[in-house]
Amino acid sequence: MKTEPAYTRSRRIDTAFGTGRPIVSFEFFPPKTQESAAQLYETIGELHSLRPSYVSVTYGAGGSTRRHTIDVVQKIQSALDTRAMAHLTCVGHTRDELATILDELWAGGIRNILALRGDPPADPSLLPNGMGELATAAELVQFVSSRHEFCVAVAGYPEVHPKCPSFDQDLDNLKSKVDQGASFIITQLFFDNADFYRFRDAARRRGIKVPIIAGIMPILNVAQIKKFVSMCGAKIPAALLERIESLHSDPQSVLAIGVDHALTQCRELIKQTADGLHFYTLNRSKATMLICLELEDTFAALGE
Ligand SMILES: Cc1cc2nc3c(=O)[nH]c(=O)nc-3n(C[C@H](O)[C@H](O)[C@H](O)COP(=O)(O)OP(=O)(O)OC[C@H]3O[C@@H](n4cnc5c(N)ncnc54)[C@H](O)[C@@H]3O)c2cc1C
Repeated sequence: MKTEPAYTRSRRIDTAFGTGRPIVSFEFFPPKTQESAAQLYETIGELHSLRPSYVSVTYGAGGSTRRHTIDVVQKIQSALDTRAMAHLTCVGHTRDELATILDELWAGGIRNILALRGDPPADPSLLPNGMGELATAAELVQFVSSRHEFCVAVAGYPEVHPKCPSFDQDLDNLKSKVDQGASFIITQLFFDNADFYRFRDAARRRGIKVPIIAGIMPILNVAQIKKFVSMCGAKIPAALLERIESLHSDPQSVLAIGVDHALTQCRELIKQTADGLHFYTLNRSKATMLICLELEDTFAALGE
């Protein structure tokens, strides 16, 4: 087997684990317009100064943003000295299509894939290939690993995937994704750390040993966060919801409360030895920047 050169090997996210410091990552979505592209690259440039362990770029299920994801992730990889990860969903794709995407990413120097099933549209017959040839993320993990030696991550759900009938069944699915070769897990966003600890403890008892990165979404806007939680099945604690709702016409106060809540979550997660923090930035830098700057003291206390 060909040995991977050191410069591309170091782009693998699994080379960042095990330093004693939790890894920190930022997620972006591909821009739809030239204006939003300019804003995205400005945001990435600002957040890059925080030296993230890696950055990731989302993928539109069914392939709607396929070209954009590939272009953005490769641009980040080549322009910035950082590890980059492409999200990839299998719903609606044939094996051949997935293989073409993976070959292109590999040839472009990308070494990390977040393997996801994705959500089918309400009417899957609208997708050219219907539901596609792979049914689950576990099958995609296996497919990705068989194509190239990618470092593969998968999604985990502290509050259970909204379509899954039970916590146990969701953990079985997570275990099978890890057994197929996933190197680490990134969780869905959550606002109550107790949900994360319960999930992590249960995963460890189930024999899932890979790092589990906590998904953090700083609240920026009341209507927007309510829409996200309704889609992904996370809950906002009642007291927090009441506070932001009472201030919904004062965006600066909502942002301040969102930053404060996320910062408290992150400090506690670091104390409780979370393997990492993954920020859903929504292509905005301010909240993530404020939180990460405040966390520097907490990281310093770890002996950095
Ligand atoms: C960190 C993160 C990033 C994400 N990025 C994106 C993105 O870029 N683009 C996007 O479109 N979506 C993204 N999503 C959302 C994700 O695509 C959806 O949550 C999707 O519904 C499930 O994807 P999955 O990879 O978790 O699927 P899977 O792991 O396949 O599981 C989905 C559900 O099906 C159940 N299940 C799986 N296999 C079986 C089985 N054999 N029998 C019974 N039940 C089973 C699971 O328990 C789970 O409830 C992201 C989610 C997270 C947490």
